[in-house]
Amino acid sequence: MQTVVWFRRDLRIQDNKALYHAFKELSDKDELILLFQVNPEQFIENSANHQAFFASVAFFKEKIDEKAHLQIQYGNPLELFSELKKTMPDWNKIYFNEDITGYGVKRDQVVKKFFAQNAIEYFCYQDHYLHGAKEIKNQQGNPYKVFTPYYNQWKDILKETPVNVKFKSDSVYSEMLFPQDEKKFEQLVENLPKQAKIGEDAAKRQLKKFIKNSVANYEQARDIPILDQTSHLSQYLRTGELSIRTVWQALQEETISKGRSTFQKELCWRDFYNMIYTNFPDQKKQPIQAQFRFIDWENDEKKFKLWQEGKTGFPIVDAAMRQLNQTGWMHNRLRMITASFLTKDLLIDWRWGERHFQQKLNDYDPASNIGGWQWAASTGTDAVPYFRVFNPATQSQKFDPQGKFIKKYVTELDKVPAKLIHQPEKMTKEEQEEYGVVLDKDYPKPIVNHKERRKQAISMYESSKEYA
Ligand code: FAD
Repeated sequence: MQTVVWFRRDLRIQDNKALYHAFKELSDKDELILLFQVNPEQFIENSANHQAFFASVAFFKEKIDEKAHLQIQYGNPLELFSELKKTMPDWNKIYFNEDITGYGVKRDQVVKKFFAQNAIEYFCYQDHYLHGAKEIKNQQGNPYKVFTPYYNQWKDILKETPVNVKFKSDSVYSEMLFPQDEKKFEQLVENLPKQAKIGEDAAKRQLKKFIKNSVANYEQARDIPILDQTSHLSQYLRTGELSIRTVWQALQEETISKGRSTFQKELCWRDFYNMIYTNFPDQKKQPIQAQFRFIDWENDEKKFKLWQEGKTGFPIVDAAMRQLNQTGWMHNRLRMITASFLTKDLLIDWRWGERHFQQKLNDYDPASNIGGWQWAASTGTDAVPYFRVFNPATQSQKFDPQGKFIKKYVTELDKVPAKLIHQPEKMTKEEQEEYGVVLDKDYPKPIVNHKERRKQAISMYESSKEYA
């Protein structure tokens, strides 16, 4: 008999619940098939996001292939499982970690039906979050909509500890089952841009480094992009190269500090947004708050492109967008600033921005991304109020006072002094000459007037409320 372990966004061996149970419950006579399916329907070709993800899959495969074999299938999951059943008629069990949001929901419903019809027992586990989406409810038994009461309950609930996977290479079926599909996979990954620091060992090193050097000061340093003191764990949590239980346990071994509790609270946001996405499955398509479903967005494509390229004439926004373009990651404070700017200064639908981040972020996670966008656009469950519009210059002065972060990415402003860096349009002709940057030639003038756009944004939101 064969048992399958189906890897999805859990690209690791250690502390992987599905793999742990599969090995533990495998009888001596049975063998284990380790499987990853590439589903073209699920990825956007040439997006930095998917390139990063598949680089991690390729690395994971390399590691598994050193001791056994990770089978690759390529195509539609239902067809692939039928093919697997034909190839391995004795296959009777499958283990995987659950995915109850977005595309994963429908896919899993369809394949579970197939498993049931073909006498394949399936076992799935909540592995990706500290607390699953259905776990925490308010006193009336309903899901929370607001973060703070959710957090107050979340922080007091016991968290699961890591599971210790005993990997037995001898029990794994190691012949290649689908050579054609493996070939397609090789073609998919052969020309991917090299990703630094991937895999579960790199993830653990990053966790260790963060805890040793940065967690104690996380509270003070996390909002200052140039300090780069956040954990950078998001890309590993997203691929599952790092288990959230491992992160939690490592934190518990640290001395209690304000930094540690603030960091733990951030991990709660991750669970919270997953819970919200599960309860509002339509939220990728429309604002959660019905009163904001009628906003008449301006949606100017030229402005959108300038935002994407980091050429808006607002240095903090441009530096942030260039960080995203160059590294595939953006600091959290800057995600808030750029998202607010897109929606409330450029008056562009947040869904355009959400989609753009989806393509670019190497830590793209639907629940957190949609949650972050709906927060910034004031349309989510527990969002910033619509009349509180970030002023890019003020944000810049507060979180990058010397303009060091700006200068790292907007190199044309390299010589501009701190007092002018946040609003270079205020430079006189002489200052422009002195600092070697001519406005509208070397660096753009602001593409909108913040004060005017702020008023326009508020009135757009108010019109939608009236219409609703
Ligand atoms: P740290 O500050 O070290 O935080 C540790 C971990 O906590 C993160 O890795 C992440 O898993 C979690 N976390 C922190 N802040 C949040 C948050 N606000 N919401 C949910 N989880 C959080 N995060 C993603 O993982 N994927 C996304 O696609 C994503 N899109 C976002 C879009 C917008 C518009 C905004 C405002 C935020 C978005 N975030 C997203 C949340 C946050 O910006 C990133 O998790 C964080 O910047 C990742 O860097 P880090 O690992 O160094 O974070």
